[in-house]
Amino acid sequence: MTVEEVKNAIRNVPDFPIPGIQFKDITTALDKPECLKWMRDEMVRRYKNLGITQVVGIESRGFILAPAVAMEIGAGFVPIRKPNKLPAETVSVTYAKEYGEDVIQIHKDALDENDVVLIHDDILATGGSMAAAIELVKKLGVKKIYVNCLIELEGLPGRKVLSEAGAEVDCLMGIEVDE
Ligand code: AMP
Repeated sequence: MTVEEVKNAIRNVPDFPIPGIQFKDITTALDKPECLKWMRDEMVRRYKNLGITQVVGIESRGFILAPAVAMEIGAGFVPIRKPNKLPAETVSVTYAKEYGEDVIQIHKDALDENDVVLIHDDILATGGSMAAAIELVKKLGVKKIYVNCLIELEGLPGRKVLSEAGAEVDCLMGIEVDE
């Protein structure tokens, strides 16, 4: 399996969820065992020797690979969720979206200053949601943060935004935003 083969398995859905958006649908790669395994293995290869203690997945497509990778590298899994989903005490970050605001939450006791964290999501677009996730994880005082997305949408400022925030960003593949 090559990165090009996995890329070709990702479906582009024009005008979803709103006109003008080229939606990158990973479900057509996830349902192919060899693509699913490639994505898991590629992440494990990149992150196995970094002392990562917790893999943090962003709801909801960050929940697909994060636990699989966590198990392989000997880390735990921690969810970042939309508001009012986590049952115990949480910390929150509010961030601006194209239209309005969004809030994300994490359990307050999920991470501490001894943790080395990998934050994972499926797609890096403008970087807004990942920047908010970094801010959220930083609130819990962790030792170090790595950032990974399956796909980087090229032509958008996501990587620049996150690098300026001091995060080490790595994506498995790049796809042109209008491709
Ligand atoms: P952003 O905050 O702009 O980096 O957007 C990242 C989040 O929005 C990720 O959780 C993605 O799942 C989703 N997303 C943004 N753009 C797309 C796209 N073109 N196709 C699929 N999902 C997207």
